Amino acid sequence: MGLFTSDIKTQPYWWDDAPRPDPETQTLPKAADVVIIGSGYTGLNAAIETARAGRSTLVLDKETIGWGCSSRNGGHVSNSLKPEFAPLAKRIGTEAAKGVLQEGLNALNYIDQLVKHENLDIDWTRSGRFYGAHNARQFKLMVKYKEQKDELDYLKLPYFIVDPKDTRQEIGTDFYHGGKVYPDVGALHPGKYSLELLRIAREAGAQTIGNCEVTDIKKHNGGFLITTASGQVIADDVVIATNGYTGKLFPWLKRRVIPIGSYIIATEPLPLELMDELLPTRRVIVDSRSLVYYYRACPQHKRILYGGRVALSEGDPMKSAPILHQRMCEVFPQLKTTKISHTWMGYVAFTFDTMPHIGKHDGMYFCMGYCGSGVSLASYFGRKIGLQVIGNKEGETPLANVKFQSRPYYNGKPWFLAPSIAVYQLRDKLPI
Ligand SMILES: Cc1cc2nc3c(=O)[nH]c(=O)nc-3n(C[C@H](O)[C@H](O)[C@H](O)COP(=O)(O)OP(=O)(O)OC[C@H]3O[C@@H](n4cnc5c(N)ncnc54)[C@H](O)[C@@H]3O)c2cc1C
Repeated sequence: MGLFTSDIKTQPYWWDDAPRPDPETQTLPKAADVVIIGSGYTGLNAAIETARAGRSTLVLDKETIGWGCSSRNGGHVSNSLKPEFAPLAKRIGTEAAKGVLQEGLNALNYIDQLVKHENLDIDWTRSGRFYGAHNARQFKLMVKYKEQKDELDYLKLPYFIVDPKDTRQEIGTDFYHGGKVYPDVGALHPGKYSLELLRIAREAGAQTIGNCEVTDIKKHNGGFLITTASGQVIADDVVIATNGYTGKLFPWLKRRVIPIGSYIIATEPLPLELMDELLPTRRVIVDSRSLVYYYRACPQHKRILYGGRVALSEGDPMKSAPILHQRMCEVFPQLKTTKISHTWMGYVAFTFDTMPHIGKHDGMYFCMGYCGSGVSLASYFGRKIGLQVIGNKEGETPLANVKFQSRPYYNGKPWFLAPSIAVYQLRDKLPI
């Protein structure tokens, strides 16, 4: 039996319902107050703020608008900031660490507010997240951690423990040894979200031009001269919002972000009874394995979308698909004969301290490094960087004071990824 449907697509499943916007035909203006490079959640949320403040705003993308991670992710929405409090407090101080972690919660709530205020049609739901323990030791650790109540609990997302014997109420598998549920985590349709942001940015007056790569930037009369595939434009302010697609144009940033491929497959449509068996609560799922896997039902509850960081060498979604299918069947043996209809990938941006960074370098604003969890973070900090450009105090964030680190000998090519993935794969097989 073949693994793929006869019309297998190597582009995001989301693009079926939210097709790429038509190629823009506008010509490049001679000047703009603000030029934003990158049209994902970061760039568009920034553009909405600068355009609404009356600054002429131009968003440029080398592909179609929203083409990067922002229309190809898993659509899980959480508080997403990865660092633990204690090591963070040691590095940046107790109060600063509290402030940073609070920003994670703010980011999750921001999506909720945005959906309500802007009346977004993006299949947003507070689905909750089941976090599975992939072995008995991990479950024990979860229980122990839950029992250690401390005064910083308000900075954590609320959750409850799911006993091993109750796991099937959450998920139709014996793969997990119990787990925990975060009821406040949500899910959305990334493609629709990207298009809705585009609509709002344009309504606010921003001009967006796709298929227009920025190839050079020079300082010019107190502002910037930006060279693109379609000509030159002068800007007072520049925002770099290129995240995992940050290229050689920005060497300082390239040395600070680690592009990592993330891969997803979508199954062919499944019978409703099977979906009810596999994901009875329709929560999004992640688990305690070191090598991250994330999965969910599509918004119409017809398919499973199964994602993970699987490739030892990056790039080809036809090669990653059989591996993801195998991993999916380890959790759901019921899907052994189920075919894959879509397989795709994108590049997320990790950082050396697992935190996003926002600020200004060489006169240009930047915001990036969401470490694979940018639906809420890119939106929230994208808005913040837009507010910083217009000098609005609401754009301030404790994150701005955290040093954006690089490492000696790192030039933007993560040579250490393949060995670490191999180590993680091994570790996930051990009972630790
Ligand atoms: C497969 C996958 C699954 C994911 N799942 C989740 C998830 O479930 N939950 C979650 O929270 N996060 C997830 N993420 C991460 C999340 O999607 C990203 O963190 C977020 O979308 C980043 O948004 P952004 O606007 O900063 O960058 P992007 O959306 O990647 O946009 C950057 C843009 O910059 C453009 N660009 C780059 N260089 C230039 C240039 N020189 N000139 C013009 N344009 C340029 C690119 O073409 C690109 O469109 C996932 C990512 C991937 C790839």
